Amino acid sequence: MSDDNTPVPAVEPIVAGLKGRCPRCGQGKLFAGFLTVGEECEVCGLDYSFADAADGPAIFVMLIIGFIVVGLALWMEVSINPPLWVHFLLWIPLTLVLCLPALRLIKGVLITLQYANKAQEGRWDRPQ
Ligand SMILES: [Zn+2]
Repeated sequence: MSDDNTPVPAVEPIVAGLKGRCPRCGQGKLFAGFLTVGEECEVCGLDYSFADAADGPAIFVMLIIGFIVVGLALWMEVSINPPLWVHFLLWIPLTLVLCLPALRLIKGVLITLQYANKAQEGRWDRPQ
C-alpha cells in the first residue's frame, strides 16, 4: 500500500468487494481468476500485494452457509423425515452452489475492507 497518495474518488469498500473491483478506484478487476487476486489494478495501478484475506473468507462461508444448510436439513428431517439419500442429493450440491460464489464475494469484501481500513500485519514499532 505504498501508492496511497494518489487522489481518486471515494469507493464504497463493500460494494467494490461484492463486484470484485479495485478497492482504490472501484473500476479495475480485483481477481485474475475465480479466487486468484490479480497483481495490480489495470486502471489505477494499485499493487495488490497487500491483499491477504487468509482464511477469513473460508470461515465466514462455513459459518453462514453452514448455518443455512444445516438449518434447512434439520427442518426437513424433523418435518418431512425423508430417506438419507434425499439429504445427500439435496444438501451436498446446494452447499457447493452456495459456497463457491459466496467465497468470491466475501474474499472481495474482506480485501477491500482491508485496504479501506489500512489493515496489515502487526509490526514492532520500537524507537531506535
Ligand atoms: Zn484501481
